Amino acid sequence: MLGGAVSLVLAAALVHCGSDTGPTPPGSEPTSGSGGITSSAGGSGTTGGGQGGGDAGTGGATSGSAGDSGSAGSAGSNVTSGAGGSAGSSGSGGAGGSGMGGSSGAAGSGGSGGGGGSGFGCIGGTCLNPNCTPFKTAAPIDRYPGTGFDEKPSYIPPDVIIPTLDDVPDSIISPPIQAKGGGNWTTADLAYLDAHNMHWDFFINTKNACNLTGTVPPAECTAAVMDVLKLHYPGNHTVHHWHLGTQGTDGCGDATCVRNELAGVESFINTASKSARPHLTRFRAPFGEPYQDNSPGIAFVAPAAAQFAVAVGWNLDSDDSNHDDGRNCTGACPTGQSIAATVEKLIKTPGTGSAYGIVLMHGIFGWTRDAIPLLFDPNTGYLAKNKFRVGTVEDAICWKYGKHSWEIVQMLSGQARSPN
Ligand SMILES: [Zn+2]
Repeated sequence: MLGGAVSLVLAAALVHCGSDTGPTPPGSEPTSGSGGITSSAGGSGTTGGGQGGGDAGTGGATSGSAGDSGSAGSAGSNVTSGAGGSAGSSGSGGAGGSGMGGSSGAAGSGGSGGGGGSGFGCIGGTCLNPNCTPFKTAAPIDRYPGTGFDEKPSYIPPDVIIPTLDDVPDSIISPPIQAKGGGNWTTADLAYLDAHNMHWDFFINTKNACNLTGTVPPAECTAAVMDVLKLHYPGNHTVHHWHLGTQGTDGCGDATCVRNELAGVESFINTASKSARPHLTRFRAPFGEPYQDNSPGIAFVAPAAAQFAVAVGWNLDSDDSNHDDGRNCTGACPTGQSIAATVEKLIKTPGTGSAYGIVLMHGIFGWTRDAIPLLFDPNTGYLAKNKFRVGTVEDAICWKYGKHSWEIVQMLSGQARSPN
């Protein structure tokens, strides 16, 4: 959602579709500590032993992380008899599986990097569906797979809430504006989540609330992306956040444009991750279009996007993106309390609400940042108090199809896809 508003701010920087194929690599990447993340995920995997290790090694950690790798690797709790990955030495650990490490085999002992990490799909073994098993009966793989917009999705357990943050990252705004204050909310969200060991889904634009592919990308945006790649689940939200199904200066209108909008983000993330994540197999369409209303553009958007990713809808809207015109609030600005109250009213308690599942939120507002602890604090938040569980988009895709997003895309595209 949103993005019309954002485009007001950045309109001058936007160019029409298809020009964004050569992203500038960001200036930094994780240099330590990522091996630990890698390893713990290895411990959690369960399907197809040992697959993870090899995938894990392409990233960037070059020093100081080997110790972390070893200890984290052994911490995986869901492997029934497999090893969690081996500790590296002198920074070459990167142990662990790709989140797909074996239920009865070793999770793999990692490659020579570590920054690329694995755990892609189930970071730290903390996801709810590490085995990627369907909740009920696995749905057949549609030609255009997606999670849809049902308020009560039959394939997600009714006590599960899945937070998603769209339109990230956002840059510092100076001078501040009413609706977004000083900006840089993605960084603030990440700081909270990282401090609480929470791993969320972020849907990334490369030229929307921050231009990641300009000559000098804002440092806070680059850092936010690297944090997402290290500790969270990156998803594709297109380069520009255009209306994919319609033509116009902020629209696509044909399949080539849709492909470019998706490929541009993949290219950027591929570079930023040092090729550890060449593809992103989870995608949320800007504004939910044309999936949510099934408008005519679906005829070319869906087949084009299905070659890249599973389309991720939402089951409830936090309403955080419906109150600004790009600079000012339309009416009274929401607050963290009001956004949290909207979600609480929808979800009530497990099994009693009018909606559950994937929650639409945005990483570019202060009120969303304020709502996050009210809802999601692991001790004091509404969800914890009411015994909801917090899941991931990959959990949901697995609950629906019994397959990971990358497995689905590989089947449909005929091209190799790996955990991401
Ligand atoms: Zn959006």
